[in-house]
Amino acid sequence: MAPGSPPTDDQIRTRLNDLKLPLDPGIKYRLTNLFPKLDGWFINSSIKTKAKLIREMEHTLEEILQPGEEVLYIAKGIQQAFLETFFMGALWAQMINQTGFVFTNARVLMMRTNGKGKPLKTFWMIYYSEIVSVKGGWAGSLTVKLKDRRTLAFGGFPKADRQAIERIVEEAIENYQQTGFAPDTTQSLEDLCCHCFDTVPKNDYECPECGATFWKPSQLAIRSLIFPSWGDFLMGHYAFACFELLGYIVGLGFVLLSVSMAISNPQGDSVLDAVLVAIAFFAMAHVMDASLTYIVANKGLNPRIGPQPHSAEDGED
Ligand SMILES: [Zn+2]
Repeated sequence: MAPGSPPTDDQIRTRLNDLKLPLDPGIKYRLTNLFPKLDGWFINSSIKTKAKLIREMEHTLEEILQPGEEVLYIAKGIQQAFLETFFMGALWAQMINQTGFVFTNARVLMMRTNGKGKPLKTFWMIYYSEIVSVKGGWAGSLTVKLKDRRTLAFGGFPKADRQAIERIVEEAIENYQQTGFAPDTTQSLEDLCCHCFDTVPKNDYECPECGATFWKPSQLAIRSLIFPSWGDFLMGHYAFACFELLGYIVGLGFVLLSVSMAISNPQGDSVLDAVLVAIAFFAMAHVMDASLTYIVANKGLNPRIGPQPHSAEDGED
């Protein structure tokens, strides 16, 4: 292989086999995009990182890709979420905002993933005709501007990913402008059903294809208002929900203890003070969690009831 010339698909497949990380031959990959270099310092470690990420997603790719759809690039970033960072802290916000990107010849697929890149239950799609621009910035950031004026901001992309994504999206946009491939949409960032991967129209919470239903953000927020962490459990953010529940129980124990101590040994306004502190605690814990649940739930679909064998009945609350 001459230095500088891109490797062939066979060379890439051979290397992946050598590293014991072969990719599914049934999925069409643009391998020279994903693995542009096979030699250089520490190249095997970057090949391994990319191959492992792709393999985490392959099971989903088998189902989500349409016939003839080719994977041009795959990467993972973290959706930037200022409100969540404010409410939950940067570490938890990062954990629940891991986002996998699959750029295909037809569209951009996005999915919530765990830290390794394994897809969870929330999926989106953007056609290239809905993208105004994708720009990489400093410190691993990537900003996506959409036709319906939404802007999505992500962080945590390695430099090579940012450069590849900018180039691939630019080419795809040019391609759509030539071919006019601009399907109808209900919003630039379409929600996808996590069961059949069909589009669920904007503001709908039932899949028109398979009848599966999704939680409305308000339904989840009310549950968190009644009992903090409930909405987070329903969204599947188990680690954060447990952490939050623990914090709530500790706070609750503290508040009840101080009220009972004030009652058993009243001095001046001590009972009133303890009760006011208790009320403030409940208002804070319940209202803050309800707000946080609403913000998180509003970003994508959260599955409620699975697919229905036949047309799902109406009358959902
Ligand atoms: Zn569906």
